[in-house]
Amino acid sequence: MYLWKCQICNYIHEGAEPPERCPKCGAPREQFKQMSEQEAQLVLRSRKSNYLHVRALALLKELAAVAEEIIQDSLDPGCVKIAAEEKEFALRTTQKILAELETHAKKNKWG
Ligand SMILES: [Zn+2]
Repeated sequence: MYLWKCQICNYIHEGAEPPERCPKCGAPREQFKQMSEQEAQLVLRSRKSNYLHVRALALLKELAAVAEEIIQDSLDPGCVKIAAEEKEFALRTTQKILAELETHAKKNKWG
């Protein structure tokens, strides 16, 4: 099995041959380039980590929303203080993950 990358939109197809048309942008088969073994290994090796980071982003978004509800509920100063810390952690960690994923993409650990 090989990985084929659309040179127009970066869609990656897995198979013995490239598809007739790119499912994402509609480019013809000729626009697909077979990825080298090294390129393919980087993509395949990084998928699990990238998916996990994306899942973590969803959880952090939920944490930020829950923290905001606690802040709005404002039962007492202790609750608000903890919630503010939770929200700050969620927002800062989200930015760290986004930066890391951008680094992955620039190092071809994406796709
Ligand atoms: Zn495409």
